[in-house]
Amino acid sequence: MDNCNRIAVFPGSFDPFTIGHLAILERALPLFDKIIIALGINSAKQDFFPLETRINHILSIFEHNPKIEVDTYTSLTIEYCRNKHAGFILRGLRNTTDFQFEKSIAQMNRELFPQIETIFLVTPPEYGHVSSTIVRELVKYGADVSRYIPGKIVL
Ligand code: ADP
Repeated sequence: MDNCNRIAVFPGSFDPFTIGHLAILERALPLFDKIIIALGINSAKQDFFPLETRINHILSIFEHNPKIEVDTYTSLTIEYCRNKHAGFILRGLRNTTDFQFEKSIAQMNRELFPQIETIFLVTPPEYGHVSSTIVRELVKYGADVSRYIPGKIVL
């Protein structure tokens, strides 16, 4: 594996895609030749928005960006990255809880496949509280979530 072709995988559930995800992607775009936004399909996790809806939300923002690809996967994230010849996994960090969780995964991934580096970007302070979980909770109660969702996405 060589890292000359800078392909990053941005894995997640994106249920739904938020301004927090967008902020991380916009800052990561200049760093890579290609970023694959990869929606993990996890049978143990109950989706809120259907997979196709989530994909369409993301496409509505990035469909004209040649550096962004949207895909789904069911395997281990690191296996998926290997198959895609990606040299990097991109993740966002909001707080120490994210860090604790991400640190173990990044260390384990590195043990499994040291050629793939996990790159963390720290969230802008104004988005530190934005999460898909909170957006889903607001949607359930009929609250307006437009301030947490990129403008092109209509939930
Ligand atoms: P997962 O279920 O894998 O955590 P998510 O869709 O919740 O998937 O998140 C995907 C990535 O985006 C994770 O690295 C997460 O930390 C990051 N992320 C989510 N919300 C924000 C935010 N507000 N600011 C920065 N990063 C974020």
